[in-house]
Amino acid sequence: EVKRPVEVEDARLLLPIVAEEQPIMEAILLHPVVIICGETGSGKTTQVPQFLYEAGFGSSGSENPGMIGVTQPRRVAAMSMASRIAHELSLTSSKVSYQIRYDATVSPDTSIKFMTDGVLLRELATDFLLTKYSVLIIDEAHERSMNTDILIGVLSRVIKLREQMWLEKKDGAKPLRLIIMSATLRVSDFAENTTLFPTPPPIINVPARQHPVTVHFNRRTPSDYVSEAIRKTSKIHARLPPGGILIFLTGQNEITGVCRKLEAKYGAKALEAKRRRRIAREAESNDEVTTTVAPAQADVEAEDVELGVRRTGGTSTRTSMATWLTKSTLRLSTVMTKRMRIRAWESILRRVKVSVTELYLVGVTNSLIAPMHIVPLYALLPSDKQMRVFQPPPPGSRLVVVATNVAETSLTIPGIRYVVDCGRAKERRYDIANGIQAFQVSWVSKASASQRAGRAGRTGPGHCYRLYSSALFENYFEQFSQPEITRMPIEGVVLQMKSMHIDAVINFPFPTPPDRTNLQKAETILTHLGAVSSSSSGIGNGEITDIGRAMSLFPLSPRYSRMLISGRQHGCLPYVIAIVSALSVGDPFLREEALDAEDEENKEEDESLALLTSDAVKAKEARKLRRKAFFQSQMTHSSLGNHSSDVFRILSVVGAYEYAGGGHTFCNEHYVRPKAMEEIHKLRAQISNIVQVNFPDTNSGFVANLQPPSALQLKVLRQLLAAGFIDQVAIRKDKISPTATGNQFTTSKGVAYQAMGIAEDVYIHPSSVLIGMPPPDVVIYLEVVRTSRVFIKGITTMNTA
Ligand code: ADP
Ligand code: MG
Repeated sequence: EVKRPVEVEDARLLLPIVAEEQPIMEAILLHPVVIICGETGSGKTTQVPQFLYEAGFGSSGSENPGMIGVTQPRRVAAMSMASRIAHELSLTSSKVSYQIRYDATVSPDTSIKFMTDGVLLRELATDFLLTKYSVLIIDEAHERSMNTDILIGVLSRVIKLREQMWLEKKDGAKPLRLIIMSATLRVSDFAENTTLFPTPPPIINVPARQHPVTVHFNRRTPSDYVSEAIRKTSKIHARLPPGGILIFLTGQNEITGVCRKLEAKYGAKALEAKRRRRIAREAESNDEVTTTVAPAQADVEAEDVELGVRRTGGTSTRTSMATWLTKSTLRLSTVMTKRMRIRAWESILRRVKVSVTELYLVGVTNSLIAPMHIVPLYALLPSDKQMRVFQPPPPGSRLVVVATNVAETSLTIPGIRYVVDCGRAKERRYDIANGIQAFQVSWVSKASASQRAGRAGRTGPGHCYRLYSSALFENYFEQFSQPEITRMPIEGVVLQMKSMHIDAVINFPFPTPPDRTNLQKAETILTHLGAVSSSSSGIGNGEITDIGRAMSLFPLSPRYSRMLISGRQHGCLPYVIAIVSALSVGDPFLREEALDAEDEENKEEDESLALLTSDAVKAKEARKLRRKAFFQSQMTHSSLGNHSSDVFRILSVVGAYEYAGGGHTFCNEHYVRPKAMEEIHKLRAQISNIVQVNFPDTNSGFVANLQPPSALQLKVLRQLLAAGFIDQVAIRKDKISPTATGNQFTTSKGVAYQAMGIAEDVYIHPSSVLIGMPPPDVVIYLEVVRTSRVFIKGITTMNTA
């Protein structure tokens, strides 16, 4: 009854997991929990839901009518996998659907539902038995994201309850099955943890059908790994046979920078422009000898140099001739100038009448002629742009994907043969003791490095170029990465657990338990916020209050939901909703540094000096203007609340965006990220809706147009912020020291503050609206980040009238 497109049918037969369908389905039918391990690309995500679907799961009238639920740690994966499986099964997007924080295609007849792990976690709060599902697949469990870990813990309980109800024949209940999927074999935290699963679940290993990947280490480890990545990629492109290149870097700025540089050197447009310029120059210099070769004469000349005559006939003669010529040209290339090489190439093409595409297809390529098709991939990229990595590159060009960790395990990009791995990842490090965060670029684990290398062996034998030395790898890379729950604040998940009546959090079956200090800290914050009654019976035992229960309805951090709960006065709710939506999505403003990154043009490439200087002048001029407009726009939005709050600056731009009806032009003019603005807009609607549904007596006042708040409203908003961040207060140091002098500062720059619970001095971040203003006595802050100093960000002044 399942219909698959022919090409899908053929392709899936090659996937290692398809050969294991029988044992996998047997295990699933016989055991409530099954663990499946298999290399990335072995077919876990796309095929296991199909096995279940074919066995009747998710279809009404079957033994297991409940939906097949699949969780993913990332939104991109949830969306792209739903559409891939719909395609493979020839089903509609209402049958194979996805749900992410802001968006869903789910319908009453959905059979297979992909979602982020956060979405499922929230569903548990309203339906602890997950009655809609007959089976749940927790995918990418090896990543050990906080939500995944918590889900596995909670689900171990839900499965037990569903089984009990089924045995007692209650309400027509059916058992729930759980499948945990991992790309690595390291699953002992789940499999051998008897508090989690008293009966150890069976583990099915899908044999890897991976082609060999040759790993090349750099001899030294350059610190400028971004330039090194470009250099390596250029080399691969120039010297090695066709096949996609996947470059792993650490973040958006690096990625867009590298894409721009590669595009300027090897993009189709750049190559074409270069060719035109050269032809123009050569026409000028009347340099006819090498540029015009009459076809008839060409063949003779080719034979003169004893070429293709030697071998096979037909079309391959031409290509093998070309191959030979190319090789000799490359051999000579060390003594040839670039211009000479290009000419040699073009004349080869003309002589043997072979097109670039043809050459490319037989494995001859040259960076001077074959363009790169360059595609970025990172989390903040709009979803439609993220999907570009799955489209085949234009014929004759080489796919180059420049990505963050996203490409490490959850997405299989077709056609990759070369991996360039910088060996680093940007990670948010969080100091549990004082709450200081740092975005650090640090070495990945050996397990991650091997995942990255594996991406090169999907289509055939591949190569992985590691931009670091093997000694460094052996001595400094950890075996595995740390589970997220051991290094992030957990007040959000603690509140969620309590809303599921898991009051004794300390007894929760965590795959890896969080640190006790972290648990204590979460409990303290929740008590401060009034979400949990303080408990005398030990850490993590406090009970959820009515406020806490109301707070847990929102897909927001507890501090933000607390602001919402108390924000129902003086018509402030629409503003609070806008503020918490924006703060949850993240500051939408582009930073000053981002302007610079945009200007980073490739300067060395252009051969014409005259062109270079006039371009440079123009670019400089444009940069100046943009900078001016940027500061102007910042000033405009800072004036809401009279330069006293970064939060109000964000509120101002959100209001203006809604007023303007959204759009990219607005975002360009106001220097905000379009994707962030769209998400804020959607989250705002979603939260207003939750308010409307759960507190019908309040008017959430979701209005398209937010009028600027009145002075009274601003005052209330300030108080609400203070209530949510009561433990994140900083006081000007010179005001509290015993030798207080009452210094007269004209700006906040470099003025030391003392923050509660932080031993070091903290400073107002340069991006703050307050930086050009005299320093206020007391501020609250949203986060504290260590870079060159410890900076507080998201500042709101507390002592303004
Ligand atoms: P796993 O989950 O084990 O890492 P997947 O099920 O994601 O493996 O991928 C299995 C195969 O399906 C891969 O080899 C990949 O080439 C193919 N595939 C997955 N998604 C797509 C897609 N969107 N377009 C084309 N092929 C895809
Ligand atoms: Mg997968």
